[in-house]
Formats: sequence, C-alpha cells, structure tokens
Amino acid sequence: MSNLVLDLVLSYRILAEHGVVDAYGHVSARSPQNPNRYLLSRALAPELVTEDDIMEFDLDSEPVDRQGRGIYLERFIHGEIYKLRPDVQAIVHNHSPSVIPFGVTTVPLKPLFNTGAFVGLGIPTFEIRDFQPSGDIIVKTHHLGNSLATVLGNKPAALMRGHGSVVVGDSVAAAVIRSIYLELSAKLQMQAMTIAGPGGKIVYLDAAEVAETTARQDSARTWERTWDLWRTKAFNQLQLEKKLRAG
Ligand code: MN
Repeated sequence: MSNLVLDLVLSYRILAEHGVVDAYGHVSARSPQNPNRYLLSRALAPELVTEDDIMEFDLDSEPVDRQGRGIYLERFIHGEIYKLRPDVQAIVHNHSPSVIPFGVTTVPLKPLFNTGAFVGLGIPTFEIRDFQPSGDIIVKTHHLGNSLATVLGNKPAALMRGHGSVVVGDSVAAAVIRSIYLELSAKLQMQAMTIAGPGGKIVYLDAAEVAETTARQDSARTWERTWDLWRTKAFNQLQLEKKLRAG
C-alpha cells in the first residue's frame, strides 16, 4: 500500500475531524505514476473511507476499473482542475459551513491571520448560473467542472455560490491544511466583523505580509508539524477501528 493512498484515506478523516466535511465532500490526489490519472474514494461518507475504497480515474473522470462501485457525481471538479493546473497535486471539495456566507454575499474573504495568509492570494467565487441555466447546483458535467477550473485560475481556492468551495495544493497535506484554515479564516473574519460592527476598522494582513508569509510557509517546514500531528491522530484512530472490526 503506497503512502499516498494511506495519506488520502487519512485526509478524509482529518477533514471530517475539523468539520470541513460531513457526510459529503471529497479529496483527491494526482497519481505520482501517471499525471493523467488521479485517486479518489468511491462514493462514501469521508469517515468511512479505507484503503480499499480508493479508486483511480482518468482526467475525463472515468474510473479505470469501476468494479461496479458507486462514484461521486461531482468527480468532474477533480479531473477538470487537474487538466488545467499541472502544478496541482491534490484537490478538496467541501461544504464547510463558515465559508458559505462569503459565497452568497459581496463581502470578500480577506487574510487576517498567519496560517490563513494564503487567502490573500485571492479566492474567486464560482457562480454556476454564469455557465448553465438556473437549476441543479451540482458540478456534475465536464462543462461545469471546466467552468469551475477556469474561474479558479491560478488561485489556491474558489468559493462555489450556495454550495461550498474547492481548495487545491501542491501536495495532499497542502490542500487539506488550506481547507481547514480556509474554514477557520472565514469563521474568524465573521467574528472580527461582528466585533468591529458596521463600518468598523479591521486590520487585515497587507500584500507584503501575505507574500512573505505564504513564501515562508511554502518553502519552510511550517506544515510538517501540522501534518504530522493530524496525520498521526487520524492514523491511530484508523488502526483502532480496524482492530475493533477484526474483533
Ligand atoms: Mn458538493
């Protein structure tokens, strides 16, 4: 079992533990063996995902070997972003609650703390009505996946109006950690706005702080401590569940 498959399994559990995903939401990783394929769970609630549930898809989001299993309707989010973003190695799609209000208002998410500095790189909003007549808001076609990928552009994340968000990274750890801090950032911004009141002053990170902070986080071992902590907790939990299941 490759480390990547295990890391992907643990990612589902880490995201659930932090309230970023519930029964819905998914995380994928580009295959290190073949950049034109990616790994994603079969359709399953995140906390139930184990190594056996991880499947391989091509970039048109067709399973390489379906084996009769259910697959996520919104898998096109993953395939279409991997097509347009060769730098992206992992993608999280989620409905994390604090982020949603920023997708349905004109209030922009802004960078306001250290680990959420990447917000300052820009978080566009995907308005699905710009790409199809009003109706179902699920990204369930190549066209909608490609439209979302186009709105995302070269940014670290995009909000999906009335739905959730998509977060990308150059590793599974980066995409997962960004997803958790995007949720926290949205929550903290709402708290700051509540305390400051209408028109009240809030001091966000400025452009230089965003540039310096994100550069340090991307190049240094900043995330290793975070990832080691969360991964270890999720791994221990997974081992315990397997032991209990085996009796
Ligand atoms: Mn969704």
